[in-house]
Amino acid sequence: MSGGKKETYREKDMSKKNNEQCCKFMQVFLDEGSVGIYYDPVIRGYFICLRGVKEGKQVIYHCPWCGKKFLPSLVEVYLETLDKAFNILMCPYTRTYFKPGQEDTEVDLPEEFKSAEWWKKRNL
Ligand SMILES: [Zn+2]
Repeated sequence: MSGGKKETYREKDMSKKNNEQCCKFMQVFLDEGSVGIYYDPVIRGYFICLRGVKEGKQVIYHCPWCGKKFLPSLVEVYLETLDKAFNILMCPYTRTYFKPGQEDTEVDLPEEFKSAEWWKKRNL
């Protein structure tokens, strides 16, 4: 029970840190979800949603409101770290994770790789 509480507290803490967006506008629009711009904390990437394309998205590199350049996305490092440290690969077609030689068995990712925890921990 107390373990669960701790987890919630830590998550709150982390979302506080996520409030450190480049400007108020970005934070407000991300919170509201009223504009087709998304932030993926797991890979620290920003995207614009494409109209009429299922799950279509375009990476963006600067904030459309304040013009600030975003920190580089960690998508490559993410996949590299999973591969080297955990021997986990991603299938580019199904976007599922597996271990080499066990392609049919989907792997559950380590908890830290389901949030921003993995890169914050490594100071990336
Ligand atoms: Zn901004």
